[in-house]
Amino acid sequence: MSTLIRNGTVVNADATFPADILVEGEKIKEVRAGIPETAATRVLDATGLLVMPGGIDAHTHLDMPFGGTTSSDDFETGTRAAAFGGTTTIVDFAIQPRGTRMRDALDTWWKKADGKAQIDYGLHMIVTDLGGAGLEDMDDMVREGVASFKLFMAYPNVLMVDDATIFRALSQTAKNGALVCMHAENGSVIDVIVARALAEGKTAPIYHALTRPTTAEAEAVHRAIALAEIARAPVYIVHLSSEDALNEVREARDRGLPAFAETCPQYLLLSIEELDRPNFEGAKYVFTPPLREKKNLPKLWDGLKHDHLQVVSTDHCPFCFEDQKALGKSDFTKIPNGGPGIENRLQLIYHHGVNQGKLTLNRFVELVSTAPARIFGMFPRKGVLAAGSDADIILWDPAADHTISAQTHHMRVDYSMFEGFRVKGNVRTVMSCGEVILDGGVFLGKAGRGRFLKRQARGGAWT
Ligand SMILES: [Zn+2]
Repeated sequence: MSTLIRNGTVVNADATFPADILVEGEKIKEVRAGIPETAATRVLDATGLLVMPGGIDAHTHLDMPFGGTTSSDDFETGTRAAAFGGTTTIVDFAIQPRGTRMRDALDTWWKKADGKAQIDYGLHMIVTDLGGAGLEDMDDMVREGVASFKLFMAYPNVLMVDDATIFRALSQTAKNGALVCMHAENGSVIDVIVARALAEGKTAPIYHALTRPTTAEAEAVHRAIALAEIARAPVYIVHLSSEDALNEVREARDRGLPAFAETCPQYLLLSIEELDRPNFEGAKYVFTPPLREKKNLPKLWDGLKHDHLQVVSTDHCPFCFEDQKALGKSDFTKIPNGGPGIENRLQLIYHHGVNQGKLTLNRFVELVSTAPARIFGMFPRKGVLAAGSDADIILWDPAADHTISAQTHHMRVDYSMFEGFRVKGNVRTVMSCGEVILDGGVFLGKAGRGRFLKRQARGGAWT
């Protein structure tokens, strides 16, 4: 099967130009103006549309156990919702329980995805324990295409690891070329502040945000970058949420260090007031780091514009309001941490970034596709429209109006963090590895067609 996408405007991270795209099988064969119609068995007309590489969401949590429950989207529903928003690749997180081998965790997550994933997926490995054969396990993971690891400086007694473990992991990646991703918040200090709040009877959702100061984030970002500098390794800060933390990344990058950071739509568009909603609705906005004061938002947009921040991901980790968020009704620390977003990332960043003049179209593509492809070892297979790349292609209608709502979204969760947000610009057609899986609002993919992506170490962003 060959497909010709005609008359569109191709947008890559480095250029915008009118061109046709010829797809043969799973790959892009040619990108140039004037490819004859006879070259393909099927023609898609992209007149008036932008043709872009499919979105890459480098931070999702599908089917993830947390606090006695499990995130409500699995690999089938989550990747389907992703496609509805123009995302054709995700990188999810496998979790190594303490005292176990990483290979067992990888098997567990492959099983979760097997027969379900509808788009290609990679996995990061969350490291909770480097005892025993931990360092060899890391090398083993890199050989399996799990070229990145996540470590937590937050959640003591659950996921948090100490500085020695972080340093050992960083030192190992300096050798094997993988990338360490850090959840950067000072969990020990936050736990003391949380205990004080509970002792004072402060149990409402808003205290989730009030007990996690931006300084606790900035301190951890600073420490993570310092440890990476000593280990001579790159480091990637996940879900950066505040100006204080951003300043640490910017300073490091100004010194030439290979420090990278992502932020997410919720930190760019929502603020702490959401947690104060009546009737426990603030719980819908409980995730970590928490939403911050409004003054942080323009600073983060600025960071995206000037490459102090390199990636926009979602940290998609949905829990239903009715029966999951409710676990924390009398104690904010029992509210499952996470929110839904996998479907809305491109819509929100396009509308609030490109339409409002904060980002160029090329920078948009870079933030949602090309940079995550490079940093996480998928480029140029993913993240660019060029001959030889996977045919992960979206046709984007810049004139389409859309109102985000839980009534119409495809994520398996009973609320939207962006309920009622109106956006201009939405996906029309989604192609994944040469197959049209979404067209005009009709889903054409199928469970199990998505494949595990072996990612390369030394993705190229820092060499
Ligand atoms: Zn996360």
